Amino acid sequence: MPMKQEQVSAMEQLGRKAELFGGIWPKVFESAFFVHGHICGGMPLGFRAGVWALKQLAAERELNMGKLVFVETGTGHAAGCFADGVQMATGCTFGKGLMSRTEYGKWALTVVDKESLRAARVSVRPEVIEAAFQSPFVKARREGVPPTEVPVDVSVKLVENLFAKKEEELFVAKLIERYELPRGPKPTFNIVRCAACGEVVAENKLRLKDGKPVCIPCSGYRS
Ligand SMILES: [Zn+2]
Ligand SMILES: [Zn+2]
Repeated sequence: MPMKQEQVSAMEQLGRKAELFGGIWPKVFESAFFVHGHICGGMPLGFRAGVWALKQLAAERELNMGKLVFVETGTGHAAGCFADGVQMATGCTFGKGLMSRTEYGKWALTVVDKESLRAARVSVRPEVIEAAFQSPFVKARREGVPPTEVPVDVSVKLVENLFAKKEEELFVAKLIERYELPRGPKPTFNIVRCAACGEVVAENKLRLKDGKPVCIPCSGYRS
């Protein structure tokens, strides 16, 4: 379904809320709405949490591969949209392999600087999440209304209320001097054709079957 004009205008307006962070933040925030697809409370909350986590580390939004983010939301619960806001704000994106979800079903994130191993965890204050779950927006969602069908003034109000608050009212932040990172494979720039299906595979994801290099689905292994 195409995006409604009133949603487009509201997203453009709401993008400006990020003027308080300066620089290109309004552009990033506006983009975050368009990429996310609808106006809700979860994405902007994650966005502010992400900006706040960067601030704790005195770090910039990640453009390359220098930081990682662990977001604690999961699948199968409301307000998982939080993770999209975290992703957009921190620049630690799924595609860059810099974001993982711990599936704890909690509204918190940790940003880690890969080089220094310094990290910041930001969690949303319990009363903030509890109030969000009492909002007319979540009430409508509970009744099965898709986010784009919630009246735009209801969803806009959520974002305005969020930006009327200071970070300290919304979040608890903690610095971690040395974060223990799980070891992952080194990134590779090499590719190989799977001997079974012929599709191209990143070299470090190949498996051997009868002495031939194959992709994971063709190998019969799960990972
Ligand atoms: Zn959402
Ligand atoms: Zn294959």
